[in-house]
Amino acid sequence: MDFSLPPQHASFRDSVRELAQGVALVFAAEVDRDHRFPDESVRAAAESGLLGVLIPREYGGAGLDALAFTVCIDELARACASTSVIVDVHTSVGSEPILLFGTDEQKKRWLPRLASGELLGAFALTEPAAGSDAASLQTSARRKGDGYVLNGTKVFITNIGRAGLYIVFARTGPGERAAGVSAFIVPAESPGVKVGQVFKKMGLNGSPTGELVLEDVVVPRANRLGGEGEGFTVAMRALDSGRIGISGQALGIGFAAVDEATALLKSRTRGQGEEFWLADMATRLESARMLAYHAAWLCSSGRPFTLAASMAKLHCTDTTMQVALDALQLAGDEGVLAGSPFERHVRDAKALQIYEGSNQVQRVVIAREVMQV
Ligand SMILES: Cc1cc2nc3c(=O)[nH]c(=O)nc-3n(C[C@H](O)[C@H](O)[C@H](O)COP(=O)(O)OP(=O)(O)OC[C@H]3O[C@@H](n4cnc5c(N)ncnc54)[C@H](O)[C@@H]3O)c2cc1C
Repeated sequence: MDFSLPPQHASFRDSVRELAQGVALVFAAEVDRDHRFPDESVRAAAESGLLGVLIPREYGGAGLDALAFTVCIDELARACASTSVIVDVHTSVGSEPILLFGTDEQKKRWLPRLASGELLGAFALTEPAAGSDAASLQTSARRKGDGYVLNGTKVFITNIGRAGLYIVFARTGPGERAAGVSAFIVPAESPGVKVGQVFKKMGLNGSPTGELVLEDVVVPRANRLGGEGEGFTVAMRALDSGRIGISGQALGIGFAAVDEATALLKSRTRGQGEEFWLADMATRLESARMLAYHAAWLCSSGRPFTLAASMAKLHCTDTTMQVALDALQLAGDEGVLAGSPFERHVRDAKALQIYEGSNQVQRVVIAREVMQV
């Protein structure tokens, strides 16, 4: 059993780290303070091919695997959590469903533009009354001619206003819960697609999150992703691998907090009590990393990975939340100052316990898988 990163992944990690530390980190504090989109970092990521990590070479991507994706998001998050969530959502739930469920025509049409960063991808599942219980979504897709007409409002959509296409989940069969949901590729420029309220959040401030309003949006049948009624399967499969990315994001934020705490302790000595604290933080994060890499390896090698991805998401995000709080506690009064990296890591970490399936929902998935029900 070899626990080291394969050489190709290690050199990829080094190149992402260089970009993340050289560009994303430089703007991270400003992006957070001003709630502004990290244009410099996303552009640099696009120019380096990081927006096409999972997309095969034949469609202009890098053709790398889930482990490379995890490492990529980890390194970006270690520098700028906002940049990491933008790239993560684009790469996984915003693009991967087309790779997994798209027709040849859909892949040829959309993947090269997503891989190059010409289009940013987004995933529109959540509604005001459909969060954890996504099967209760109400956005409608009414058949009309050779297509559909979409109406409804999605909320908390990452990359809102910046995305060139949204993968939208809508109800084609009323009253059928999950079985009545279909998935659609909806270009942002389609008439009737509007950006509603853009939310001001406690963290991940550079990543725009808000409402996607669909008013009589005509979507041709050629843009339906998967069969009619298969949308819920598309969403759940996308979220399974998406959770591996969120695990990487959590690791990056957690290790950034450990880096700050390490630098702090090197600059002052107050005895073993503090060092033991740091030791526990680093140990918990390393155990979380093992779960994330294991889930990524299962996914890349075509094995079942739902259970591993949920465990990784749960453990990585809960661990990072605690590590970020511990690092702030170590920093003391300076840690609570607005603009300190310690308080930013705490604010950035919180949403990870909520999105792509809250950690309570992960426990539901894990218990179900463990009990095989
Ligand atoms: C920053 C951010 C970005 C997001 N980006 C996207 C995006 O790009 N696309 C998208 O579609 N959505 C996105 N979301 C929405 C996110 O996926 C939902 O917030 C999440 O699914 C939880 O839904 P909810 O917030 O409505 O919580 P609810 O479902 O209302 O749950 C509220 C609380 O109850 C708990 N709970 C719910 N059900 C159970 C249960 N069965 N057992 C125990 N506890 C339970 C939950 O864990 C939670 O703590 C984003 C959210 C945030 C905060």
